Amino acid sequence: MAGIYVHIPFCARRCIYCGFFSTVREAEAARYVNALCAELHLRKDYLKGLPVTTVYFGGGTPSRLSPEQIGQVIGCIRTEYGLDNLDELTVECNPDDITPAFASALQKLGVNRISMGVQTFNDDLLRFLGRRHTARQAIDAVCTCRKAGIYNISIDLMYGLPGQTDDIQQQDLGTATGLDVSHISSYCLSFEEGSLLEKMRNDGRVLPADDDTCARMYDRMCAHLHKAGFEHYEISNFCKPGCHSRHNSSYWDGTPYLGVGAGAHSYNGCSRQWNPNDLDAYMTGIEQGTPAFEIEELSATDQYNERLMLSLRTAQGLNLILLTPQDRLSVLNSADALIKDGLLLHENNTLCIPEQKMFISDSIISSLFR
Ligand code: SF4
Repeated sequence: MAGIYVHIPFCARRCIYCGFFSTVREAEAARYVNALCAELHLRKDYLKGLPVTTVYFGGGTPSRLSPEQIGQVIGCIRTEYGLDNLDELTVECNPDDITPAFASALQKLGVNRISMGVQTFNDDLLRFLGRRHTARQAIDAVCTCRKAGIYNISIDLMYGLPGQTDDIQQQDLGTATGLDVSHISSYCLSFEEGSLLEKMRNDGRVLPADDDTCARMYDRMCAHLHKAGFEHYEISNFCKPGCHSRHNSSYWDGTPYLGVGAGAHSYNGCSRQWNPNDLDAYMTGIEQGTPAFEIEELSATDQYNERLMLSLRTAQGLNLILLTPQDRLSVLNSADALIKDGLLLHENNTLCIPEQKMFISDSIISSLFR
């Protein structure tokens, strides 16, 4: 099993909180798509013939491409890697890009999952964040995808937004669950280095929500989504039974993946490599047949720490049976005090973080690192 991630860095404009690699140079899209296809061809041996079960178009804003451009990339993946084993084909979309014609064209291309960047259903907060859509457009976009025959729909929400009261969060959660989507990802607002939001905070123009507020919002969100029938399967991800993201789950369980496009990361079990976060360096390197990338070989310690970091993010947790006897002993020794303090559960040869402690999972996991 393997996955393919396709990075589409184009956005109509930048949101104030954005820390992703993205650009507003949409006029470069046709050249970029050709570069993606060339990279897919150049790196066809990376996955060593493993069957591709998931493909994920992320960004940026993949819905800034035309259906023909998305189809061109899917066609190249089919030619170079085969799609006979494909289980999940996701395209991230912004709500205001979704028209009936666009959704129908994606469905015809085999797209069976849409991940939509909604963030909140409050129009004032959407404007504050620099999002282009309104709450009404987000609601309509979900219905449009369904009418086009795409039923597996995920929406992204945010909490801990400046000015987001308990009532606003409650309305966001109520609207999201009322839409009967199959998946919700929800992230606490972070002040990314170099973002406009970070500058606004440093200038005193924005007051961040404090840790207690964010923790309370996280707890309320978990309770609300449980009640609405969602499973909490990863720190920030909730799904209806059977509707977890296959592609993202493969990151957490160590499945190899090929990432193509500017800034995309790849993993093959022993190393990670990543393309430059620079549109021109990426496209020129590919066009000249000498792709620019950096690579990091993972030492045994790196692999151990990564396994802990990725698996303990999930409700399934760390399967101790998959570790060497030496690593098992080592992790259980470091986990002892955390288990006694109720920060980790040890059951059925598995270590996992109880849901009530997921909000502080980063500090729990890092205290287990070698
Ligand atoms: S749409 Fe997404 S990638 Fe683009 S600027 Fe906004 S947050 Fe960043």
